Amino acid sequence: MSKRFSFEFFPAKTDAGKEKLKLVRAELNQLNPEFFSVTYGAGGSTRDNTKDIVLEMIDEGIDTAPHLSFGSDSKEEMLELITSYKDAGVKRMVALRGDMPSGLGAQRLVYASELVAFIREHTGDHFNIEVGCYPEIHPDADGYAQDIQFLKEKLDAGANSAITQYFFNVDAYFHFLEKCDKIGIDKPIYPGIMPIINHHNLMRFSKTCGAEIPRWLGYKLESLENDPEGLKAFTTDFISSLCERLLAGGAPGLHFYTMNLVEPNKTIWQNLKLS
Ligand code: FAD
Repeated sequence: MSKRFSFEFFPAKTDAGKEKLKLVRAELNQLNPEFFSVTYGAGGSTRDNTKDIVLEMIDEGIDTAPHLSFGSDSKEEMLELITSYKDAGVKRMVALRGDMPSGLGAQRLVYASELVAFIREHTGDHFNIEVGCYPEIHPDADGYAQDIQFLKEKLDAGANSAITQYFFNVDAYFHFLEKCDKIGIDKPIYPGIMPIINHHNLMRFSKTCGAEIPRWLGYKLESLENDPEGLKAFTTDFISSLCERLLAGGAPGLHFYTMNLVEPNKTIWQNLKLS
C-alpha cells in the first residue's frame, strides 16, 4: 500500500498572515501531498477563519480537511457547519474533542467519539474522518489502556484513521501500535510530525499537550539557542531521521504540523525523497 503524506495549517488571523499562507500552501502543494488540514481554535474560536481558508483551498482544487470540535456549539449549529462543508465539496474532516478556552471551565466537552457518530449519523459515508491519538497518552487520560480503548471507540464510531500527537521517541509510537493491535484496532495510525522551530515554544507547548522532550534533546536545543543556523541544521536532520525510522518501521505515512511554514517542511520532505 502506498504511504500517505499530509500537511496541517492553523488559520491565519491577519490579512498579511492570510496572504502569506496562500504562498505557503501554493509552494507545499507542489510537493503533491494527499491533503491539507486546517485546525480549529479551542471552543470554535476560529470557526469562520477555519471555514474561510478551507473553502478557499477547496475552490483552488486542493483537497482540504477542516478540524472540528463541538466547543460550545449546539447540535443544530454543528449540523449547519458540517452540511455547509459537505455542500461545498469538502470530503474530509478531523474530528476532535478540543480543549476548553479559558473562562468556560465548567462546561462538559463533547468527546470526539460522539462527534464522529454525529457526523456519520447525519452525512453517512460522505466524509473521510480522522481522529487524534496519543502515543505518549493524552494528559487527561485515566491510564494508558483506557486511552487506547477510547481511541478504539472513536474508530468504531466510524473514523477512518487516526493522526498522532507529535512525539520524538520512535519506540513510543511502535509500542502504541502494538497495544492498539492487541485490542483489535486495525485502522491506520499516522504519526504527526512537529518540525522544531523554537525551543522555548516547543517546551511550553509540550508540557500542556503531554509530549515528552527527551532530556538529551532538551539540552541539545538549549545549547543551540544562540545559533539559529546550527539549530536549523540539527533539527532538520533530526526530524528527517525520525521520519525515516518511522517509515522504515512500517508507519503508513506522515502528517506534518507545518506551523504555516514552507521550511523546514520542504527540506525534510526532500530529504525523505517523497516527491
Ligand atoms: P477525545 O478522544 O474525546 O479524548 C479526550 C480525553 O477524554 C482523553 O483523555 C480520553 O482518554 C478521554 N475520553 C475519551 N472518550 C471518553 C469517554 N467516553 N469517557 C471518558 N473519557 C473519555 N485541538 C484543537 O482545539 N483544535 C484542533 O484543530 C486540534 N487539532 C488536533 C489534531 C491532532 C492530530 C491531534 C492529535 C490533536 C489536535 N488537537 C486540536 C488537540 C485536541 O483537541 C486535544 O488533545 C483534546 O484535549 C483532546 O481531543 P481528542 O479529540 O483527542 O479527545
